[in-house]
Amino acid sequence: HATWPASDGISYDKLKQILQDTPSPERAREWSQYYTAGPHLTGKNRSQAEWTAKKWEEFGLKSSIVSYDVYLNYPVDHRLALLKDGEVEFEATLEEDVLEEDPTSGLEDRIPTFHGYSASGNVTAPYVYCNYGTYEDYEELQKAGVELEGKIALIKYGGVFRGLKLKRASELGMVGGVIYSDPGDDGEITEENGYKPYPDGPARNPSSVQRGSVEYLSVAPGDPTTIGYPSLPGAPRQSTDGKIPDIPSLPISFAEALPLLKALNAYKGIHYNTGPTPSTLTLNLVNTQNYVTTPLWNVLGIINGSIPDEVIIIGNHRDAWIAGGAGDPNSGSAALMEVIRSFSAALSQGWKPLRTLVFASWDGEEYGLLGSTEWVEEYLPWLSEATVAYINVDVGARGPNFQTSAAPVLNKLIEAATGEVLSPNQTVAGQTVRDTWSGHISTMGSGSDFTAFQDFAGVPCIDVGFGAGKGDPVYHYHSNYDSFRWMERFGDPGWGYHVAIAKVVAVLAAELMEAPVIGFSATEYAEGLGRYLESVKAKARTVSDKAGGMGLAINDDTFAPLEKAITAFRRSAITFDTKAAALSALLTSLPTAPQTPTAHLTDLYASARSTNTKYKLLERQFLHAPGLDSRSWFKHVVFAPGLWTGYAGATFPGIVEALEEGNRTGVGKWVGIVGGRVEGASDLLGE
Ligand code: GLU
Ligand code: CA
Ligand code: ZN
Ligand code: ZN
Repeated sequence: HATWPASDGISYDKLKQILQDTPSPERAREWSQYYTAGPHLTGKNRSQAEWTAKKWEEFGLKSSIVSYDVYLNYPVDHRLALLKDGEVEFEATLEEDVLEEDPTSGLEDRIPTFHGYSASGNVTAPYVYCNYGTYEDYEELQKAGVELEGKIALIKYGGVFRGLKLKRASELGMVGGVIYSDPGDDGEITEENGYKPYPDGPARNPSSVQRGSVEYLSVAPGDPTTIGYPSLPGAPRQSTDGKIPDIPSLPISFAEALPLLKALNAYKGIHYNTGPTPSTLTLNLVNTQNYVTTPLWNVLGIINGSIPDEVIIIGNHRDAWIAGGAGDPNSGSAALMEVIRSFSAALSQGWKPLRTLVFASWDGEEYGLLGSTEWVEEYLPWLSEATVAYINVDVGARGPNFQTSAAPVLNKLIEAATGEVLSPNQTVAGQTVRDTWSGHISTMGSGSDFTAFQDFAGVPCIDVGFGAGKGDPVYHYHSNYDSFRWMERFGDPGWGYHVAIAKVVAVLAAELMEAPVIGFSATEYAEGLGRYLESVKAKARTVSDKAGGMGLAINDDTFAPLEKAITAFRRSAITFDTKAAALSALLTSLPTAPQTPTAHLTDLYASARSTNTKYKLLERQFLHAPGLDSRSWFKHVVFAPGLWTGYAGATFPGIVEALEEGNRTGVGKWVGIVGGRVEGASDLLGE
């Protein structure tokens, strides 16, 4: 690799050796210790931003702090009480237990339990058990004739993004939401199965509470007052209507949900009673939030390559809901430091990077991907022109299972990179991360900082991290117990997964930076499109069946133009990838490039440049400037967060949403739009 173009730096193999040798568990632990000890909340973490920028400078990067003025809330007061005939039956503490064993659980200035972007309010009303609060859960309740209007929703965490649970509740006329963590969703590791709860064991501490944002993530991420443009000082501000909840909500623990659940069951003496409770049995829900417009601080660092307009970006957020945040985000932040330290070591040994590498430490992720979204909105023209890929690491380590979601062009590269990093849990000596990984690559949804890159800027993204499986210690997500102490004891005791994720990210970035021909696969994209089309057709069949005589008349013919476009794209993609692979083989087999290249070499370099430009711009072809019909910030016609899932990705969202609405014209329109974008992609590759 390093022979192209003429380079007096170290070889590619040497670079990769440095990236494998540098990250260490001791250093990862040290970074984690620093990051889990400071103030984290968005707009309150300036000291950690400045410290991060300084460290990066010490590692030889040019760094800067980029600030935005964002609209958000800080908690003032809250109350949740169960009232019977006006008397208090149960008063929730809304506090997580202070644990002697875990110092950050008892800090004087610990962050209260609350929801980002929740509405202030004081409501007293009967309540209804709404399961996970998915669209379908509410539909079931409606079908069963359960009255929802005027009631408070008691909802379990899980399944879909928490803000969307409240969005649907509000649409149905409910007046508040209480969301709790249920150990029934903790896999095998429960107290019921004999496991001790944290701090003594791996099960959930029953007082743990999941904080989190309730922004309507699938409508748009970012500052809800500046959708589509950066929150710079003086920027015009929009109304937040339809972007954040208009009904108050609180997150609570399982321990404090139990009296509410029991009161429901006791009322009719049956186990599965959903309520509503009678008018004599109510909840008083008080949520007081202070809304402000306040600065946040992204840290950006850069390693300049010899090609300035082929840029790879690696990002991780720095803000957290809690004092510790050892998993979220600090396992990622610690890993990012190790990635930077590794590239820094390579630079000091003479590495001359071919492409340009940018590092980002985002603020405001937790409230709604604020720091990354505002930055992408501000630098969109440059990002569109120059960015090859964005690599995201949020929770880098909290268990042994490698997990990833990626744009299809990156599939092959993540398979290769994981194949080069040794797994921390080898059952057979020498196993790599790839050997111990299921091999599953999820489609891009949302819930972390890749969203604006993928869905707004059309930059191919990958998100990586080690998660937990059913038999692993329970992760206390957005709780005080996502602490340094938990991580060292249960999450990643040897810090090996922190090291492994740092290596995966570094090796992947190095390959993207140094390969003479970028190792994208357009064919994988084409294969993906084919699969997404099949699933749209399957959906159309069920919708048409349901619509029956309503004349929806959607069948496979409806999709014929898109099918044709995908077939043509597949052909161009295979041809293009094949030529690119041949060119890559040729360039990597050359001996060290001469100071003055021959005419033949100059030609080869020119074709590599043109191939790379096309790979770089391929994802951009799938953007549709007017955006999706009901949420115009989302510009990508292939991927978007599901309208009612948030985290999980939807494919061909324009078509699917029209189908779900039973909108025949809309389906036709979107088949045309998507087909047009796929043809655009074929044209780019075929030019
Ligand atoms: N990752 C955070 C969460 O899941 C923020 C996601 C978002 O607001 O988009 O709560
Ligand atoms: Ca904005
Ligand atoms: Zn996170
Ligand atoms: Zn988080």
